Amino acid sequence: MQKNKPDVNHLTPDQFRQLGYQTIDLIADYMENIESYPVRSQVNPGEIYRSFPQHPPVKGKPYDEVLNDVKSVIIPGLTHWQSPSFYAYFPSHASGPSILGDLLSSGFGIQGMLWSTSPACTEIETLVVDWMVQICGLPRKFHSSQSGGGVIQDSASSATLCAAIAAREKILKANPDATLSDLTAYITDQTHSSGEKGLKIAGFRNDQVRKIRVDENFRMDVDDLTHCIEQDLSRNRIPTFICATIGTTSSLAIDPIPEIAKLANNSNIWLHVDAAYSGSAAVCPEHRYMFDGLENADSYCFNPHKWLLTNFDCDIFYVANKDELVSALTFTPEYLRNKESSAGTVFDYSGWQISLGRRFRSLKLWCVIHHYGIEGLQAHIRSHIKLAERFTVWIEESDNFELFQPTSLNLVCFRHRSGNEKSQKILEVLNDSGKIFLTHTVLNDQYVIRFVPGAMRTQMRHIEAAWEQIQQAARS
Ligand SMILES: *Cc1c(COP(=O)(O)O)cnc(C)c1O
Repeated sequence: MQKNKPDVNHLTPDQFRQLGYQTIDLIADYMENIESYPVRSQVNPGEIYRSFPQHPPVKGKPYDEVLNDVKSVIIPGLTHWQSPSFYAYFPSHASGPSILGDLLSSGFGIQGMLWSTSPACTEIETLVVDWMVQICGLPRKFHSSQSGGGVIQDSASSATLCAAIAAREKILKANPDATLSDLTAYITDQTHSSGEKGLKIAGFRNDQVRKIRVDENFRMDVDDLTHCIEQDLSRNRIPTFICATIGTTSSLAIDPIPEIAKLANNSNIWLHVDAAYSGSAAVCPEHRYMFDGLENADSYCFNPHKWLLTNFDCDIFYVANKDELVSALTFTPEYLRNKESSAGTVFDYSGWQISLGRRFRSLKLWCVIHHYGIEGLQAHIRSHIKLAERFTVWIEESDNFELFQPTSLNLVCFRHRSGNEKSQKILEVLNDSGKIFLTHTVLNDQYVIRFVPGAMRTQMRHIEAAWEQIQQAARS
């Protein structure tokens, strides 16, 4: 008699091994052929959705057929962020060691909400964020052995939200008669949109969020900040939170952190510093001048998932005083109580973030740091900066194009001398060609093309080809 098939068709370890090899092969082939794809996906809206039956499968189908769908439908629907000709936004790296570290994390399938739910998840995370204090030369107070500490968040958006909530709770605790509507916060129109969004989620209404003027270099104007703080104090409001940026998204502008920190410290305002992109440059000592003043900030974040060879999601969020963060975000229902947490001898990182559950994100960063070493990370950053320097010279020497501003790190902001319309047209032609992908910003009413040579595999020959295509698009 034939044995009935089990109802639930789990993969055996051996089946998993075989299909896993096929999947790794697919990723390796993807890496090998990455230059053959149009950088920006060429599909139309709805095309991917309609490629599949609208009814979900009642019976499962073999995984190798699923992999075929990945090849034939999903890959054409990707914009290829790993392409060496991807110069848009900021990059999003997926290095080999990072992918493998993430795979291990998926394989173990643990929940890292408490130390006790997986001690290695918590302790490797503490270890790598402490290492990063040393790798980036960050203020000692962010080290877990001091008053502060770091934690890995999914994104800079979440880090800024957590900082805003911690600041709100700190101020409300210190001012028992105050209500949320008395608090004010300070950003600029160059602050990443996640700053304003985080403040909104934290309960700040529009009129409680002051947009400080920027100077001609798009940096927060300290005189205007001083003025707005004084004005708010005179109206019996309580200045609570400043979000300053090292490396704005549009143009990598650096707010004057030392002066802002002085003001913040004098007025007991929480200073959060967002260096989501440019924070990775701190692995090179020659760029650390950008981070002056950070020793007086209350919190700081940057994204290894942008420029430090680690795949999404990985933002490191440091606070100068971990008690302030943990007291704002820790809830311990009975079903989570355990001996180690009660003894207070361990970190429970669920109390450092919004959600309870958390992935073993540190594993990929741990793999990256081990594989590349500090020297490898530095060489990687320097190689991109060199490419941007070379590209900058071409723009400077060009008759048709001009720099919008001096190049900072590896963001080149440039435009066509004929103006906005021509610059916009060139960008459209380039992106429709599929050969390269760039994005734009608008600064002082000028349409500015952003060129970021920051993808992992971008080399001199790629930016030479890109420059050729840009000149060609200008002639069309
Ligand atoms: C990219 C970026 C962000 C947003 O990062 P997420 O991790 O996607 O939330 C915030 N601030 C700056 C300066 C950025 O460049």
